[in-house]
Amino acid sequence: MVSKVTFFPVDNGDMTLIELESGKTILIDVNIRATADDPDDSVPNVAKMLREKLNRDNQKRLYVDVFLLSHPDLDHCRGLERHFHLGSPGTYSKSDDKIFIREIWSSAMVFRRASRILTLCEDAKAFNAEARRRVKCYRDNRLFGLGDGDRIQVMGEDENGKTDDLSSILVKVDELVTKVNGVVDSSMTAKLLGPLPKSDDEEEEEALAKNRSSVILRFDIKGDGVDAACRFLTGGDAEVGVWERLWTGHRNTDWLEYDILQTPHHCSWRSLSHESWSNLGEKAKVSEDARSALSQRRYGAVIVASCKPISANDFDPPCIRAEREYEAIAKEVSGSFKCTGEYPTKTSPGIMEFEIGQYGPRLKSQPTRGPIIYTSGAVGQQPLAHG
Ligand SMILES: [Zn+2]
Repeated sequence: MVSKVTFFPVDNGDMTLIELESGKTILIDVNIRATADDPDDSVPNVAKMLREKLNRDNQKRLYVDVFLLSHPDLDHCRGLERHFHLGSPGTYSKSDDKIFIREIWSSAMVFRRASRILTLCEDAKAFNAEARRRVKCYRDNRLFGLGDGDRIQVMGEDENGKTDDLSSILVKVDELVTKVNGVVDSSMTAKLLGPLPKSDDEEEEEALAKNRSSVILRFDIKGDGVDAACRFLTGGDAEVGVWERLWTGHRNTDWLEYDILQTPHHCSWRSLSHESWSNLGEKAKVSEDARSALSQRRYGAVIVASCKPISANDFDPPCIRAEREYEAIAKEVSGSFKCTGEYPTKTSPGIMEFEIGQYGPRLKSQPTRGPIIYTSGAVGQQPLAHG
């Protein structure tokens, strides 16, 4: 089986599916608007697009092996309760035919920080309740292990030692995720870069919350039997302060290197600068450290903005000036920048699917639009100097 990374046209929001060579699936965030399954509405039916890509288990349940919520903003979990089964596997309703989640990847820390600055939406509350149910399941059954639909991996430590007893389901920041649905999977590893751990310094902790703390992962995905044929960096809505700190910690490692980058926060200027695009326009300065963190591309890299079509105005996100920065970053390695809201056309956006072969990811063109376009090469890549 070929591994794939697929982006869905969800306007300003994230919804990304990784299909591994092992056959396992990892879904990162969902943004399924209520009108998405209304045939009379022009909003792309992303629920249908997703369901067509998933398999059914021996109980005929459509499933994902993993659902990861990067952070609890509405545009990252909208439609979760409506389209996915939440609650104990025994309560699954065949007639509802919702998608079954074998394992959840969740961070208590991003919920804690988000709750301080906003009121959680219903889908976020439902996800949080489900994550807590699964952690309790683990605590009650740790000697016997958990089955599909009860599993969870916790991304990053919580505060005050609250995750200290969860060591076998906890991945700390700067550690590797190697298991998918409870089993070590040789077709991928993922480096956990964020959420950055709780700081004892109150101001620093406040800054991390304000910078939209998110789960940040750099996946190494196997393609055609070649390890790390595609490196995929995804970081929810993390903003400039988070990327600056990551650059400080990782400037001498290859942890930020990518073949595909999902631009943080829907191509927002706020991931690249402390200054407001709407107020300062072209005078707003780029943060060199944040830009460096987001510039560790390999030869032919593709930068994908998951957002509505980008226009030349003072709107943010998506921001036209951020698009220009990302285009420049990609151009230096003969790569490209793509926007999910404009692919293949602005009037009729569809899925953006990358197949991962031994030479890296290649964009699978729409069926009627000619041959596959090769966009990247992991083999023969040119090493890039950091800094
Ligand atoms: Zn968002």
